[in-house]
Amino acid sequence: MTGSIAENLAKLRQNVPDTVRLIAVTKTFPSKAIRAAYDSGIRDFAESRIQEALDKQEELQDLPDICWHFIGHLQSNKAKKAIAHFPWIHTCDSLKLAKRLDRLAGELEKTPKLCLQVKVLPDADKYGWTLEELWSDLPEIEKLSHLEICGLMTILPMGLSEEEALGGFEKLRSLRDEIQNHPDYNFNLPELSMGMSADYPLAIKAGATMIRLGRVIFGER
Ligand SMILES: *Cc1c(COP(=O)(O)O)cnc(C)c1O
Repeated sequence: MTGSIAENLAKLRQNVPDTVRLIAVTKTFPSKAIRAAYDSGIRDFAESRIQEALDKQEELQDLPDICWHFIGHLQSNKAKKAIAHFPWIHTCDSLKLAKRLDRLAGELEKTPKLCLQVKVLPDADKYGWTLEELWSDLPEIEKLSHLEICGLMTILPMGLSEEEALGGFEKLRSLRDEIQNHPDYNFNLPELSMGMSADYPLAIKAGATMIRLGRVIFGER
């Protein structure tokens, strides 16, 4: 992409239905870039490192209606800061982390909105539940009362064909449907956080409700 942030967003809006929440991923980009996207109407911003995000939040205090999303792997010693400073955490990737977030949310009297991160395809480099692991942890997850579990999230492995990527996203949607319709559980999971610059059209096709875009808006990192 060679356009300005405003031009890139204008182009993107032609390809993204209004019903899909467009989250601008600003890791490594400066606060100035966030302001430019804000001026073009974006209110959802995502960061993947706590300290980097807190520095930018500090610089952007004059923009109080920004909704911040955390999308990085969350180390347990940063969990408290994540809850304090991010209304959304997309990357709850283990039962251990979920339990910790639940306890801290109770202490802080917050109810963070969460997605459960799932590895729909084998990927040694990624965090998240496999499908089998998630099914077996569901009874414990259901007991966590301080979290608002809103949906599922995935990051696909690199180097897939379009067909494989579409299949991966559809797998996340089916999993969501199965969990939601399962008679033993009482989950309400409207959100599917899936799709990045390289694959968001496929994610939208498969039913994404939140897409996380960095490079198509801000240029290469
Ligand atoms: C960096 C990142 C994105 C955005 O990736 P782009 O290729 O810049 O669109 C989306 N989701 C997660 C979890 C990321 O870490």
